[in-house]
Amino acid sequence: MQLTDLGWNSFFDNHFEPYRKQNLTALRITRANREKYIARNELGAFTCDLPGKFRFDAGSKNNFPAVGDWVAASIQPMGKKAVIQALLPRQNAFSRKTAGHLTEEQVVAANIDLVFIVCGLDLNFNLRRIERYLSLALESGAVPVVLLNKDDLCAEAETRKHEVQTIALGVDVHTVSAHRKAGLDILNAYLQTGKTAAFLGSSGVGKSTIINSLLGTARLKVNEVSELGSRGRHTTSFRELILLPTGGMVMDTPGMRELQAWGDEEGLKQVFDDIEALALQCRFKDCRHQTEPGCALQKALTDATLDADRFKSYLKLKNEFAYLSDRQTMKANALEKAHWKAISQQARNFKKNE
Ligand code: GDP
Ligand code: ZN
Repeated sequence: MQLTDLGWNSFFDNHFEPYRKQNLTALRITRANREKYIARNELGAFTCDLPGKFRFDAGSKNNFPAVGDWVAASIQPMGKKAVIQALLPRQNAFSRKTAGHLTEEQVVAANIDLVFIVCGLDLNFNLRRIERYLSLALESGAVPVVLLNKDDLCAEAETRKHEVQTIALGVDVHTVSAHRKAGLDILNAYLQTGKTAAFLGSSGVGKSTIINSLLGTARLKVNEVSELGSRGRHTTSFRELILLPTGGMVMDTPGMRELQAWGDEEGLKQVFDDIEALALQCRFKDCRHQTEPGCALQKALTDATLDADRFKSYLKLKNEFAYLSDRQTMKANALEKAHWKAISQQARNFKKNE
């Protein structure tokens, strides 16, 4: 095994340069449970601690290691333990806003090359939901691939696939049946050595079944209580980056499942680029596309060149982003105020001591 099998590349290698001089070791986080980590390199896995200084310097939750991150660590002379000294920059990341009154970004998965968006061809099938996931995936910078699972339960699989292709221009769409292990070979074409894939999709669409079949074992329990001693019913409760026997890695973390729209509007813009282009023709630059005169979107709705449902999900996502960015701005303003208050306090103290 080599470090590149775990996703190491020249981007990380360049950023690791100063740490190499300090005799630190590059490790990739494969498991994160609160502040306990497991990370590995080509030689094996290490249980890692995060020193107090790291926590203190990190400031935002954003800067704590997440599954998929590369870190610079000092390996303890005895045993399989390491201390995380620094976080290497991320190529990309999936984040969610954390609970609490202040909106803060928390990274739930880092350095993801591919996102398999899984949707059931049964009652779960929902184009709007696929749009949402596409938006999330594109925003992260990972390549999305849509998997329409439960092919065996649907007589119109090809029609559905076509519908998805019309909303996801340029994105690969495949129909599969995880249950019958039909069509899954195609996944290996994406999961080349060193590539990391994450799965997005509602509960029950077959993500665990697909991952199990990639692993060739029933490592993820399907629809069962999965943690010993846990009373809750989870489909899976797993925070691991898993190496596949055929090369490539798969990530399945609870955090990924709770993902909410976050970040800038780039992803939204790409999924709804036709609507965004149309909106440029609205008479008012700040048109909210409701009752404003000269609204190009309302006109398109009237003459049915724009689908009403698609318009609705566009507005919904847009409002969500607007809400989040307002919260972020509010937080930034509050921090700014606190910062200046601290500085003027320092200045006053300084004068007193003169
Ligand atoms: P997850 O919550 O997305 O991880 O979904 P699971 O992998 O736990 O699957 C949920 C249920 O769907 C299980 O009962 C699976 O056996 C079933 N399932 C998964 N894939 C297929 C499929 O291709 N066809 C059918 N009919 N059922 C499937
Ligand atoms: Zn408008």
